[in-house]
Amino acid sequence: MIIAIDGTLASGKGAIGKKLAEHYQIPHLDTGALYRAVGLEALEQNIDFSNVERLANIAATVNLRKFADDSLRTSEVGNAASKVAAIPNVRAALLDFQRNFANQQKGAVLDGRDIGTVVCPNADIKLWIQADMEVRARRRWQEFQERGSELTLANTLATLQERDARDRSRGISPMIRARDSYLIDTSDMTIIEAVRTAREFIEKTLGTKN
Ligand code: C5P
Repeated sequence: MIIAIDGTLASGKGAIGKKLAEHYQIPHLDTGALYRAVGLEALEQNIDFSNVERLANIAATVNLRKFADDSLRTSEVGNAASKVAAIPNVRAALLDFQRNFANQQKGAVLDGRDIGTVVCPNADIKLWIQADMEVRARRRWQEFQERGSELTLANTLATLQERDARDRSRGISPMIRARDSYLIDTSDMTIIEAVRTAREFIEKTLGTKN
């Protein structure tokens, strides 16, 4: 079973993906981490975001194990990720890895922005996760605070708006809801409630398919 989860930043898609993967005992790939790793490498090596060839080379050899999760989760790296994610050659270089991951025998859960539309258009289950902008900004800000960041809530909101806009408007694989996806708005939900809602949908869908 392939579960494709897409949605906006800080909507809860990563946490939902992780829990669903645990529940169904299938591997989980946070595809945002791939773009973040390319973004971080670009920052560390001081590569200009217009240097498409070098960035695509980095994407072709990206190794997630090289980076500690915390170093990937900063606002700066998120922003760099969204810049490299708009480059067609970078996306192309990451596509095979994601598709191979999805096509493992047991199946997989992948979360990102274009999983249901581009990476796995034939996924068995497609979820679209969203939440109000203010709720998402507050969630992200709290995460940053827990990690000792001094970013203000207003700053977090502004960065989030900028990143959403870039992800939605890019020419290649823009962040868009797949027509056949099931929408879950997590604005007023805990993660447990969101996961329960997702599981109800999955089980109903699989039940009607069999
Ligand atoms: O989900 P996360 O915030 O970690 O993603 C970082 C950035 O990577 C996003 O803002 C987006 O530009 C990019 N991304 C993407 N396609 C994916 C996953 C992430 O373009 N499937």
